[in-house]
Amino acid sequence: MSNLEDKPPELECEATPAAGVEIMTPRDVPLGGPRAMRVRRTLPQRHRSLIGAWCFVDHYGPDLVADSGGMTVAPHPHTGLQTVSWLFTGEVEHRDSAGHHAMVRPGEVNLMTAGRGISHSEVSPPTTTTLHGAQLWVALPDDSRFVDPGFAHHAPKPVTGPGYEARVFLGSLLGDTSPVTTYTPLLGAEILLDAGTTLELDVDPAYELGVLVDAGVVSVSGTEAGSSDLAFVPPGSSRLELTSYDEPVRLLLLGGPPFGESIVMWWNIVARTHEEVVDWRARWQAQITDTGMVDGWFGRPVGDELPPIPAPPLPNARLKERR
Ligand code: MN
Repeated sequence: MSNLEDKPPELECEATPAAGVEIMTPRDVPLGGPRAMRVRRTLPQRHRSLIGAWCFVDHYGPDLVADSGGMTVAPHPHTGLQTVSWLFTGEVEHRDSAGHHAMVRPGEVNLMTAGRGISHSEVSPPTTTTLHGAQLWVALPDDSRFVDPGFAHHAPKPVTGPGYEARVFLGSLLGDTSPVTTYTPLLGAEILLDAGTTLELDVDPAYELGVLVDAGVVSVSGTEAGSSDLAFVPPGSSRLELTSYDEPVRLLLLGGPPFGESIVMWWNIVARTHEEVVDWRARWQAQITDTGMVDGWFGRPVGDELPPIPAPPLPNARLKERR
């Protein structure tokens, strides 16, 4: 998806500071365009830009899109990151300039590596009447951020136990390991809990974790998180306890070791400096013409004739490094 938020999150974020687990509440962000989807954004926030290498967490739906025509995100660029698409309901058709054409489906991860630069589009087919999912980004570390663009798909086999079901789409959890390549250690899993269930998870104490709650209320090692909250768990513990109450819970568990690098994040670009952002933006704008789109640094999504999304204007102030 394309991030159309052109102002930094400084003014809107809310957070409840607490020792240990910290609840980050979402802000409502319109993605813009004629069929404006709204998303609930929990990362980045003013005081926290990253959880591991995870740098962007948007949660959306369930949206009844039968009348609006669904998701139509025209070609737009990315650099320096991987996009991770996870759906609960609906389907989205992905096309990118590295030649990949794939459907995003519930329970199956699509991971697109932007590396030095890629362009892509995302369109829901007419058969999709409800869209519900999460759009996540992973920052690439400095030594890998100019890798070739790539794409991976994985449909994890559910791991089940008393009162729970998990799908491990990145990294390792509950004895399952995803084959998808990442450039820093990462964890990504969907977990379903029946009502009245406690799930004790072995986790890497070097990881910081984020629990994005889709549905229900869950206790995250003793701190309650509700729908669309992102519970941050600092490193240092090898156990994570997830407890549901009188209703089932669906959540995404994200994590990784602290990223340790400062990033400059603007629009669809993860860079290291203001100047880099200016350069990437100019390369994209050079591909946009009065009649559509020409080839260039980011290429063109193969098989897509939608007019491209122009970059928003740069802010007057220098973009700040965040970590
Ligand atoms: Mn995108």
